[in-house]
Amino acid sequence: MPETIIAGNWKMNTTLDEAQALVRAMKPGLEEIKGLRKVVCPPFVSLSAVSSLLKGSTIEVGAQNMHSEKSGAFTGEVSSAMLSGLCKYVILGHSERRHIFGEADDLVGRKVRAAMSAGLSPILCVGEQLAEREQGRAEAVVERQLRAGLDGITTPRGLIVAYEPVWAIGTGKAATPQDAQQMMSHIRRVLATLQGQAVAANTSLLYGGSVNADNVAAFVREPDVNGALVGGASLKADVFVQLARNAATART
Ligand code: PEP
Repeated sequence: MPETIIAGNWKMNTTLDEAQALVRAMKPGLEEIKGLRKVVCPPFVSLSAVSSLLKGSTIEVGAQNMHSEKSGAFTGEVSSAMLSGLCKYVILGHSERRHIFGEADDLVGRKVRAAMSAGLSPILCVGEQLAEREQGRAEAVVERQLRAGLDGITTPRGLIVAYEPVWAIGTGKAATPQDAQQMMSHIRRVLATLQGQAVAANTSLLYGGSVNADNVAAFVREPDVNGALVGGASLKADVFVQLARNAATART
């Protein structure tokens, strides 16, 4: 069975002080929630401090991106080797990386391979743009991103896939749980073709895009939705704790 995961992507928000205050505020409430994995993904500069604050807790830490090479002349970049001592997860191929920073499918694939080699658990983000959905190409786009993201991988250790339709991210216009479920079962079919039935059945699939404390339960009640990748609603401690609590209740 795939594990249920609620992950917060803080994006380019919070100074070091704010990140520490945020994690201190959410820690007691998140600690009480059982039956799911709770993950926070702060900006790079706060990873070390947030990881220290969460040491020994049931709350885990992820990064939001990384470079595909281990080291070298890549000014301003951060590698898997730098992250692997600091956190367990790394978000890769987020739509903001793909569409604002021009990350192509094959680059995302190289990053996924690098993350797995370093023992990091990649949260591979896939999702179509509005025009692609309107043209009936949503499933084809997601399949292309998945194939490229997993190219060359024989043992997808720690893989998590987040389906995040671009039109739903930060817009307040979430997909319907039924649309999310339909895409998740497509993703499982593609995973089965690429990596076999066992991987397909055991990989956690997260929905992302305007998830909040009120709608999360409806998503995680869908059979193939194993949690959520949360942006805006992960930046307020009480809201994120309530969201995680509602997800845990809905799964039991
Ligand atoms: C995200 O950034 O991954 C995301 C889903 O954002 P939001 O929840 O704000 O739509």
